[in-house]
Amino acid sequence: MENPPLATVRTIADLRARVREWRGQGLRIGFVPTMGALHDGHITLVRTAKTRCDKVVVSIFVNPTQFGPNEDFDAYPRNEAADLDRLVSAHADLAYLPTVDIMYPPGTSTTVNVTGLTERLCGAARPGHFQGVTTVVTKLLLQVLPDAAFFGEKDYQQLKTITRMARDLDIPAEIAGVPTVREADGLALSSRNVYLSPTQRQQALAIPRTLQALAQRLAGGADAGPHLRWGIDELLRGGFDSVDYLELCDAEDLTPLTHVGARPARLIVAARIGKTRLLDNIGVGPI
Ligand code: AMP
Repeated sequence: MENPPLATVRTIADLRARVREWRGQGLRIGFVPTMGALHDGHITLVRTAKTRCDKVVVSIFVNPTQFGPNEDFDAYPRNEAADLDRLVSAHADLAYLPTVDIMYPPGTSTTVNVTGLTERLCGAARPGHFQGVTTVVTKLLLQVLPDAAFFGEKDYQQLKTITRMARDLDIPAEIAGVPTVREADGLALSSRNVYLSPTQRQQALAIPRTLQALAQRLAGGADAGPHLRWGIDELLRGGFDSVDYLELCDAEDLTPLTHVGARPARLIVAARIGKTRLLDNIGVGPI
């Protein structure tokens, strides 16, 4: 069967015109924000959106404001033609490709900040990161005005932060989480995996291996402290150069937990191998 056409827009006015037309036809609009370098994780978000919505808009925008001064904004992989091909096969309906000038015209001076949830974990390791994310996602949601927006559990703190933000700001879109898509050997798909050398790619498996082992060790309610220390050592022995954090958290508000109790918990990790920072998380419990 021939793939349907994928329309591409680059301005807010063109985006709104398309979406307005669909909304006038009574169609339900889904939205998947991405930074491009699309892989099967992104494509699963698009396919999930497609099962729950009539039309799916995908944005590709490498957002400069969520990168720190010494991070990989310039090096971040970009391949618009390959991304658009992937979106055609995934049956996305509209690709929105704004420029930095469109997203942040001169004089832009408003930001969105979620307190509490963003202060620990990646927020502590990457100052300013979440403010960049919440600001750009707010802008994208207001530009697209979707009925539902789809985010990966792979970036768990981001998913919880955006869910809270949409609730607090009365943004009229459902925020839907989609389970992490992994390689056959367990590594979570990430646009940053292309930075890994073949040796590092093997070493990176210490993350899913350690998370699985910890989930088993902690599921029965054991004191998490010694097991988390074991987990950090295991990552370092496995080839990671440093571990930003490895924590057991409440799955909803991300407060640190000493053990798995009656509420769902989440093991969350960020660790560095060479210049690459990898994230992952899995659910644990409740008991
Ligand atoms: P990014 O392009 O990295 O900003 O990611 C765009 C969206 O794709 C975010 O909602 C991510 O959480 C999601 N995503 C990235 N990797 C995965 C994955 N392996 N599985 C599911 N969703 C993912």
